[in-house]
Amino acid sequence: MHREGHYGTTLFVGAVCVLVLGIITGMIATTVMMIYARVPDQDQYIPESIISHRGPTHSVLFAFILAFISASTVTYPFHFGQQLAVEHNLISTAVIVPSTVWAFFAGVVVISILTHIITDALTKGGGFKVKPLWPFSLWSPALGLCTADDKRWNTALLASGATAFMTTILHEVYYSVLPTVTVFWVITLHTDIINIDGLVDSVAIYN
Ligand SMILES: [Zn+2]
Repeated sequence: MHREGHYGTTLFVGAVCVLVLGIITGMIATTVMMIYARVPDQDQYIPESIISHRGPTHSVLFAFILAFISASTVTYPFHFGQQLAVEHNLISTAVIVPSTVWAFFAGVVVISILTHIITDALTKGGGFKVKPLWPFSLWSPALGLCTADDKRWNTALLASGATAFMTTILHEVYYSVLPTVTVFWVITLHTDIINIDGLVDSVAIYN
């Protein structure tokens, strides 16, 4: 599939992440997945004699190796940043445990690469069918719904993925963010009323 198709299916998965993880964590997960959405296709820039297109980079093994390297690379600077923030009294204690950052990032990268493989498996594949179980098996699933460069399929996937993602964002804003803001606003207003009453009472006592 082309770029539009991959971004479309990634946004679909991002919509599920927003529903399951909440708006902030879901959007962070979606951003990471969008960055990794087209990593497997970078094999097209490597000579076919060294690595075949839709070969090793379109496998579960690649997903796990990339997730391990990426999560390990991101976690240490994050942990270091938190330590620095604690030392400079910007935060009182580390907000997120490093192992949680690692697990989150690794999980999101794996999901992103698996989404890419599944999206490519929708196509006919021709001589370039995905091999998810490489190097243990050369099983090549190809549903054959379209060719990778099918403009209608790529556009439809992007449009429907973007619509699904925006819908879940609006859903979360309406059902989670707005009620929280409203409750906070009411409590703040109520506190002001209490203060005004207290002020009126104190003035009355003084007089
Ligand atoms: Zn691909």
